[in-house]
Amino acid sequence: MTHRFAGSSVSTIAAAFVLTAVCGAFAQAQAPAASGAEPTDPKATEQWEPVPAIVTLGNTDAAPPSDAIVLFDGKNLDSWETAKDHSPARWKVHDGVATVDKSTGNIQTKRRFRNYQLHVEWRVPANITGEGQFRGNSGVFLASTGGGDEGYELQVLDSYDNKTYVNGQAASLYKQTPPLVNAMRPSGQWQTYDIVWTAPVFAADGKVTSPAYATVFHNGVLVQNHTQLKGETTYTGWPKYKPYTDAPIKLQAHGDPSPPVDFRNIWVRKLD
Ligand code: MG
Repeated sequence: MTHRFAGSSVSTIAAAFVLTAVCGAFAQAQAPAASGAEPTDPKATEQWEPVPAIVTLGNTDAAPPSDAIVLFDGKNLDSWETAKDHSPARWKVHDGVATVDKSTGNIQTKRRFRNYQLHVEWRVPANITGEGQFRGNSGVFLASTGGGDEGYELQVLDSYDNKTYVNGQAASLYKQTPPLVNAMRPSGQWQTYDIVWTAPVFAADGKVTSPAYATVFHNGVLVQNHTQLKGETTYTGWPKYKPYTDAPIKLQAHGDPSPPVDFRNIWVRKLD
């Protein structure tokens, strides 16, 4: 059908749109195929439908767009649970912030997600101590496959002036891919992660048919560019995939002895 667009008059194109819409084959009318005779009419390569949905932006850059699911707005952790036993999340909420409670462990969303855009803000406290992996260690697990550290961790750490293995610094996909650059602000200041997560796809027998990908901006700077993951991020050994279809998003209560990290303003947009 798309070959009919080549060299067509405007009215013929319009008629073709109507016809295909009526036939229920609307998708075919969206974009002319890049095959056959190349159109000489510039209108033949215009796409008019479907029109992208309008989202209303927040009043500030930090506010979520209208189609976002707000996971934490500073008031409570009602959208979260303790990862290990699904009991209510018990991290302390104060001053619009949720602070990691290392004694109660990781927390995760009650809802499960597949492909999404995620916004997270986090802050290493100004009184941070320690070095290497023991300095403001936390993490955002882009898909949680267990109550511990199972899943795919985007590292949270004080990497402003703190040497560690580079595939374990802030904005690394832990033990797999270092960030492209270090976009860290100093401790005491808020950091943003804006993430696009493409979940892995598994066949019925558990084999990976499409790997996971993560794109990450740290404080607005691209640090992971459609990075392919080799499997779940693991502290010891090689990454391996474990089949799942949808999963919670999880925040890490790392056991390092340094003062705990704060989180605020967390929202997600489903991309399924
Ligand atoms: Mg971590």
